Amino acid sequence: MGFRETGVIKVGELERLGLMPSRERLKKGPVVIAECPEEIPCNICVDACPFKAISMDKIYGIPRIDWDKCIGCGVCVAYCPGLALFVVDLSKYGDKAYVTLPHEFYPPPRKNMTVKLLSRDGRVLGAGRVVKVWSYNNTWVVTVEVPKEYAMEVRGIWVEE
Ligand code: SF4
Ligand code: SF4
Repeated sequence: MGFRETGVIKVGELERLGLMPSRERLKKGPVVIAECPEEIPCNICVDACPFKAISMDKIYGIPRIDWDKCIGCGVCVAYCPGLALFVVDLSKYGDKAYVTLPHEFYPPPRKNMTVKLLSRDGRVLGAGRVVKVWSYNNTWVVTVEVPKEYAMEVRGIWVEE
């Protein structure tokens, strides 16, 4: 079953739709992944990117990333109303990666906090450390350190009271 039946997109589907950067690009440094495969009338991310790295052929098109222009700054993550943009950084030495994701629940995450790492379908994958937090328009943009093998699976966090 695909994402239209399950509501949860898989890495293989992102690859088939051309929405995943190459392994070589991923290893170079932080880069955004737009997990937004449906044609919807939204193009906020196109104007949000200060580096003109996101484009769309029509207002209801699929966002396409120029992964050579993207520096992984995370600005678009804060703007996306669909919470569909994530920055993955596989360039770190050792067995850790960074994932930057949107978060819109209370309590707010804080730097150095340990939080639960959630998969696309809400399963707890383990625990990770918050390395950076900032907010824009009531969306927290959170960078968490995760085990490298979960970099393409962690797409949410849970902050315990
Ligand atoms: S992460 Fe930054 S550079 Fe990359 S697409 Fe988003 S806003 Fe543009
Ligand atoms: S802002 Fe978010 S929901 Fe809108 S097109 Fe871009 S990625 Fe999709």
